[in-house]
Amino acid sequence: MDEQLKERLESIRDRIEIAAQRSGRTKDAVKLIAVTKTYPASALQELIDLGVRDIGENRADEIMSKAPELKGDYELHMIGHLQTNKVARVLPYVKWIQSIDRQRLISRIEFLHRGSPINALVEVNTSGEESKTGCTPQECRQICELVAKSSALRFCGLMTIGPLEGGEKKTREAFMMLRELAQDVKDLSPHLELSMGMSGDFEWAIEEGATMVRIGTLLLGGRHK
Ligand SMILES: *Cc1c(COP(=O)(O)O)cnc(C)c1O
Repeated sequence: MDEQLKERLESIRDRIEIAAQRSGRTKDAVKLIAVTKTYPASALQELIDLGVRDIGENRADEIMSKAPELKGDYELHMIGHLQTNKVARVLPYVKWIQSIDRQRLISRIEFLHRGSPINALVEVNTSGEESKTGCTPQECRQICELVAKSSALRFCGLMTIGPLEGGEKKTREAFMMLRELAQDVKDLSPHLELSMGMSGDFEWAIEEGATMVRIGTLLLGGRHK
């Protein structure tokens, strides 16, 4: 077992707990999603063996190549842009799709999916940056309603990626916007997840109400290629 990985995991869990306490919550209110993109299946397996339950991947191809090798108790989250032509191949492996952002994607999933509904978060572009995926804040309610109506998906909340630049103020504003958008869709689900915060901004996100943080670099180091 990689001692360094274990230490980094413990340190992140500690920081999550402290940030949760600052927001008047306990560590159980915030779920860590370990983002393993570009890392081999063996790295995912090591995390699962260390007790990490939630694994995030952002590309369909990586999910298809790694997921069949994994053993144990874990849930896979698709957190990246999902092309409609790749939906069929990832559906068997994912428990969560955090990047629902358009009607066509919802229709495609509905057409293909059999079995119990997949947990779905609607991704919102809260920073207005053009490079970002996600629906606009104006479209959010409508997409959430489509998810809530779908028999293939269970509407579970909202996801966003903080701005690449702009520092603490802009980043917090983006997270606050997601929290406010969640207020608008409270009627659609009894419990709403707010997936926001990555390696560089997860403590701000927790203070703004995140219930899921997606952490890659801080846990695993630089990207493997
Ligand atoms: C890569 C990625 C993350 C993790 O980012 P880090 O900065 O490495 O922690 C989180 N969310 C999404 C959607 C990602 O693609």
